[in-house]
Amino acid sequence: MSVRTRLALWHAGILALLVLGFAAATYLVLRAKLYGQIERQLTTDLELVDKAYPGGAYEIAELDEHGAIALFKVTGDPSFQSHGWGRSGLDRALTGGDRRWTWVSEDGHEYRFARQRKDRCEVVVAQDTTHARGTLKSLFLVLALGLPFALLGAVGGGYVLAGRLLGPVGSMAARAARITAESLSERLPVENPRDEFGRLATAFNEVLARLHDSFERLRRFTADASHELRTPLTALRSVGEVALQGSLDPAAYRDVIGSMLEEVDRLARLVDSLLTLTRGESGRIKSAAQRVDLGELSSTVADCLRVLAEEKDQTLSVEIEKAVFAEADPAILRQAVTNLLDNAIKYTPSKGRVLVRARNRGSQEAVIEVIDSGPGIAPQHRERVFDRFYRIDRGRDREAGGVGLGLAIARWAVEMNRGRIELETEEGGGSTFRIVVPRPA
Ligand code: ADP
Repeated sequence: MSVRTRLALWHAGILALLVLGFAAATYLVLRAKLYGQIERQLTTDLELVDKAYPGGAYEIAELDEHGAIALFKVTGDPSFQSHGWGRSGLDRALTGGDRRWTWVSEDGHEYRFARQRKDRCEVVVAQDTTHARGTLKSLFLVLALGLPFALLGAVGGGYVLAGRLLGPVGSMAARAARITAESLSERLPVENPRDEFGRLATAFNEVLARLHDSFERLRRFTADASHELRTPLTALRSVGEVALQGSLDPAAYRDVIGSMLEEVDRLARLVDSLLTLTRGESGRIKSAAQRVDLGELSSTVADCLRVLAEEKDQTLSVEIEKAVFAEADPAILRQAVTNLLDNAIKYTPSKGRVLVRARNRGSQEAVIEVIDSGPGIAPQHRERVFDRFYRIDRGRDREAGGVGLGLAIARWAVEMNRGRIELETEEGGGSTFRIVVPRPA
């Protein structure tokens, strides 16, 4: 059953109960009031007859003027009665009851009687209740006939009202159904952001915005990755084609193969980095935090990359404070330090200096700094160098062997370890990349 029908039925059901309760209460209260009044009137009438008795038959006959219909009997004597009593032939009702009773005449008139006995006297009074009964009957009819109409109105009104209320949901659903991966920039209309539907639409729009964002990032990433993959492939092909065109001597072939292998290397590095990054982002890599000696980690990384620095005639030194420990996953953290040091060596000119430093900072943090005497990074690039595929100078940096993912991976690796990377650099004045990670508790 649709929400609309359910709402309408609930609405009608509750309304019907309320109206029924109200009608029943009105009827019963009115009935009690009317009959109560009649009962009280009968009591008054009994007193009236009692007072009128000393005046004899005449006085009792005139009681009609006061609204009382009465009969007065003394055992053995003829009875006195008011005019009304005789007119209505109420003698026939005398067998009806003991103290109070109701009697209906053939012509449909209803009377209520009260009887009182004292010594040898007996007084009976009556009130014509036909009018009261008629009033109650009309009221009952009005209520009984009106109720189905009220119910019908409630169902119809509820249905229309629910339809109007739920209208926005229908249009939202229709609009949402039209949104596909290609039209993620579309949004649901928000009529009133403060009401329930407005809040629902706003929440849905926020989800859409986040989806759109990740789709965009994915698209850009795929485009960038394909572009990066194409460059070495193009280089491979053109080197091969050139070599095929003429016949070369063995030394020249060796050169060609050498440069082809260089491109293959670049491809392999790129694919490795892409894999690391996507695996990291998919959340499949879990960091296994443990107590890590940052001094030892820094020296190991420096030793691994020392040959690269030596090739460029750079001085690579390591400075370690005593007992620098961190709470981190050593393999992931090592990746970050390796990338930073690799960059420092790559972008610092020959004969430059590179320093790796491990130290404690305050009681909470331990840091590894990679400091170089290279070209530094201009302010407009400082934030963006951590973006994927972002390279300050495409040509120059590609020459240096970068694929533009080193810093993105380093930042991911440090953040996996609940840390952050700080960058201090001045154009022309070298750079300091600082990994800050928590110390063990
Ligand atoms: P790549 O793999 O190309 O090195 P990265 O993400 O590691 O990419 O670095 C992004 C860019 O930041 C590099 O292209 C380079 O221009 C710049 N960069 C990184 N480290 C340094 C550094 N130590 N000194 C100067 N520039 C740097």
